[in-house]
Amino acid sequence: MASLGLEDKVILVTGGSRGIGAAIVNLLEDMGAKVAYTCRNPSESQNGKLAIEADVTDLAAMEAAAQKVEDKLGPVYGVVANAGTNKDNFYTKLTPEDWDAVSNVNLKGVNHTIKPLISGMYERGEGSIVCTSSISGERGNVAQTNYAATKAAIIGLVKSLSREAARYGVRANAVAPGFIDTDMTIALPDKVKDKIIAEIPFRRFGKPEDVAWAVAFLLSPVASNYVTGEVLRVNGAHHT
Ligand code: NAP
Repeated sequence: MASLGLEDKVILVTGGSRGIGAAIVNLLEDMGAKVAYTCRNPSESQNGKLAIEADVTDLAAMEAAAQKVEDKLGPVYGVVANAGTNKDNFYTKLTPEDWDAVSNVNLKGVNHTIKPLISGMYERGEGSIVCTSSISGERGNVAQTNYAATKAAIIGLVKSLSREAARYGVRANAVAPGFIDTDMTIALPDKVKDKIIAEIPFRRFGKPEDVAWAVAFLLSPVASNYVTGEVLRVNGAHHT
């Protein structure tokens, strides 16, 4: 039977406690991967999976998390830099703190996730890195200048990293979800939600699982072996 070839692969997912990250963790586990994930507050219901308390803004904590994964599960093949946050407001109302909070998680946090693990991937000559960008990073969005700037930066990061990492057999790609039903979008007022849905040809928000399958494809050493520096949109035709 055909498979994505992720059985027994060690994969670290950041922000795996909720939303898109939790769907990625569950799907990868179903595929037989050895999955660890980080978040700030692992809950009791997440017992049984390797959940690591680590804030992505803290490089030392992420280095310790990477070490823990390798000690417990073995050399890491896949990294999913998924943890993200938003502090939406009109540009004139955004404070310097709003800018720092979002870029510390969405941009610095991605660097802190990849950095401790990439040398080992280079040495082993294999690996796949998937970072979560966003529709907002490509088409922009009202009240999201801070968030969109970080998500556009992620695209530059994976495109550059893919060029550097290719000679070591390591790939780097991004997923760019459209609007997905998670805690991040639940707070949107109904009026705003209706307006967005009217713009989406699928006429609904996506599900976290829709993104998880795209991530699994990009992680796969079988299905996406020659795909790198790419941005895979998962947006129900909600294009620019
Ligand atoms: P979510 O439901 O709000 O979950 C966010 C996840 O990130 C949680 O697991 C959270 O963990 C973790 N996280 C946040 N700040 C963190 C930090 N400082 N350190 C460690 N973990 C942190 O969000 P989501 O919708 O699943 O979003 C996942 C990714 O997709 C994000 O990068 C987001 O920008 C992107 N995205 C989402 C949408 C959408 O419509 N939902 C669209 C495009 C892109 P704890 O809070 O438990 O620590």
